[in-house]
Amino acid sequence: MKITHCPQCETAFKVSPQQLELAKGWVRCGRCSHVFEAHLYFEATPQTAPVPTPSADAPALFRAAMSAVSAGRESTPKLEMMPRQQPRLWTWVAGVVLLTLCLLWQLLILQRHWLAAQEPALRPVLSALCGCEVTWPREPEAVLIESSSFTENPDGGYLVKLRLKNTQHHPVAMPALELSLIDLQDQVLVRRVFTVDDLSAKDHVPALRDVRLTLNFELDDTVSKRITGFRALVFYP
Ligand SMILES: [Zn+2]
Repeated sequence: MKITHCPQCETAFKVSPQQLELAKGWVRCGRCSHVFEAHLYFEATPQTAPVPTPSADAPALFRAAMSAVSAGRESTPKLEMMPRQQPRLWTWVAGVVLLTLCLLWQLLILQRHWLAAQEPALRPVLSALCGCEVTWPREPEAVLIESSSFTENPDGGYLVKLRLKNTQHHPVAMPALELSLIDLQDQVLVRRVFTVDDLSAKDHVPALRDVRLTLNFELDDTVSKRITGFRALVFYP
């Protein structure tokens, strides 16, 4: 038998090594319900000796504690053995909650462009929350090339005209454009990438709307003679 003290109310309790083993050292004070690790508050006096009687000069709290021990074997309050799982369960729950919040936060940051596109009023809030730039969602599948043409420009050079369509119910970022001019054998003669700036277009395509683009460029005569077709595709760099 050993004597431990509740660190909160100073009540002393007797505990056997078997009891401690069962509870993995965690106990609950029968008087104030405080949960503590019994071995941290063991009394130095070995319990083979009779329970010490409180001396007159001991502090009042300590005397009260001692008398709780000496009042008899079955004295109340009792020490309750605590299964160690209890504190662990709370740690676990707190961990799960924290992890969930972290995931939600990550999701919010990742989806901020999309969220802002759905609800433009959220844009300043999202931007302030993550301290980052909120632009437009980049959805390559959302933008289709509805029609395109490649012609000689009467004023010189060549013209490529395209109509892009945003198939989504929210705005999406303006994609970049890759244009390949091909010959009879389907070999690429010229490949050029046009960024949003090159396209002198807006930075987004409004929901379910078309955008018309015209590209004007010069070609070498040797190249232009061999051109039989072109391919255009949109992408996000
Ligand atoms: Zn207590």
